[in-house]
Amino acid sequence: MRDYATLLKANDLKATFQRMNILESIENYGHMSIDAIYEEVLKTHPSLSLATVYKNIILMVEKGVLVEVPITGKKPKYELVKDDHIHLVCTECGDVEDKPRMQETDTLLHTLTNNEHFKLEKQQINLYGVCEKCQMEVAS
Ligand SMILES: [Zn+2]
Ligand SMILES: [Zn+2]
Repeated sequence: MRDYATLLKANDLKATFQRMNILESIENYGHMSIDAIYEEVLKTHPSLSLATVYKNIILMVEKGVLVEVPITGKKPKYELVKDDHIHLVCTECGDVEDKPRMQETDTLLHTLTNNEHFKLEKQQINLYGVCEKCQMEVAS
């Protein structure tokens, strides 16, 4: 488990219990929608409103503590900032899997951005498709 207080303060955010609780839930699950985060946080903060949780999540995205992962046809999910990695996103069940980035894609992206004189700072590669589990369900 990370030191959430330090992480928040390093990004100019007050380390409130709500925020630390949100971060802990997301870290436990890896990637979560706002609704799922809200359900988890309610367990420890029953009086919290969805609007407050939503506001905190958006703020933490703006400050670079959380990253939004868009999911085609579904609500986005959120994850803690990690080293750049590749996402396998299932458009059926909305599952998001982390895969380490590869030398080949790094080389490709650097060539592409260098050619455009574009200063690459961050990358988010999301591959959309149907996960193995969902493919089996369709087949059966
Ligand atoms: Zn799936
Ligand atoms: Zn991820």
